[in-house]
Amino acid sequence: MDGSLVDSRGEIRGVLHAPDGRATRVAVAWPIGARTISVRGDGIAIDVPVDGLTARSGGWRGGAVHLIWSDDAGASAVTVDEATSLLALEERATPAIAEAARAARSGARRTKRRFRLAVGLIAAVVALPFLALAFLLFHPDPLLDFVVPRLPTAIDRQIGAMVRSQTEGAGNVVPNGPAAAAVDAIAARLLAHAPEHPYTFEFVLVRDETVNAFAAPGGFVVVHTGLLAHAASAEEVAGVVAHEMAHVLERHSVRQLVREVGFWALVAATFGSVDGLGGVVVDGARNLAQLDFSRDQERAADDLGYALLRAASLPTDGMVTFFERLAEDEPGVPALLSTHPGSAERAERLRARAREDGAPEVRPLDVDWVAVQASLR
Ligand SMILES: [Zn+2]
Repeated sequence: MDGSLVDSRGEIRGVLHAPDGRATRVAVAWPIGARTISVRGDGIAIDVPVDGLTARSGGWRGGAVHLIWSDDAGASAVTVDEATSLLALEERATPAIAEAARAARSGARRTKRRFRLAVGLIAAVVALPFLALAFLLFHPDPLLDFVVPRLPTAIDRQIGAMVRSQTEGAGNVVPNGPAAAAVDAIAARLLAHAPEHPYTFEFVLVRDETVNAFAAPGGFVVVHTGLLAHAASAEEVAGVVAHEMAHVLERHSVRQLVREVGFWALVAATFGSVDGLGGVVVDGARNLAQLDFSRDQERAADDLGYALLRAASLPTDGMVTFFERLAEDEPGVPALLSTHPGSAERAERLRARAREDGAPEVRPLDVDWVAVQASLR
């Protein structure tokens, strides 16, 4: 609205409704103190005595004033609804008309406020799904919680098979001997007491000096000779292996791989079908070695590993003491520690749990650890 619409003579813009029903845009000149106002428009030139004017509020939600008069031709009215014109009426018109103009202006303001509120509400409703998506972009866990359990475990097995062919292709698998037999004994004991699962666990010993063990999805578990060389007993190795098995049972790698496929693929899988996701996840598994578990996942693997060890009548502090010895003795950061951070805090947590649960019934593994160590030198 333009202030120049009200000139020095107090020009007011409106629409004239003539007795014959025609509507014409007009300008009303209302000089201060005038006894007569002039209504001018296209082919319109009417002078109206101020005494003969009455005002009635109207328009959408009371945002307008009708200036009404009668002459020989009948009743005419000029409808004024622009804020500047209503303001000019307030300044120049008779008290009754000025009051009607004031009421119309506040009615228009109220309507505008309500309109803004309505627009705001609609915008909020429309924006809500986008806000939800934006939230999930930074906190994808609810999406992952939904998608991962719906992925068939065939994906895990496919990834596991991939890792196995890579591992076997590298030619470092130690097929037999005391060390391989120790790994088999550990695996057999843990598997015999594992909860029901849809996977096929397979354990291989790989000649590699780094102190490490890892488990691919689907149950392909790799133990390095370096891990055995640095462990004080087969039970300690069993602790690490139980933890790795827990990662498989909880599908932690698959979850991390799904996380990596990207947010929109995840959204698509959530609202559509997970079928297309499988191939993408298997494809992404090429970078399996670079995958990091979250602290929560490590804690979950500790807990399930602990339960596995207890069920298998193996000492639960094996992994804990092993991590602690690694942290003290080893120069640099061994591979196992770099993928399992925060060992001190985790060790303390498991110790507290073990104190609470009381001493477990322990059945030592039938492994000649001295012979194992000798075979590795
Ligand atoms: Zn772990």
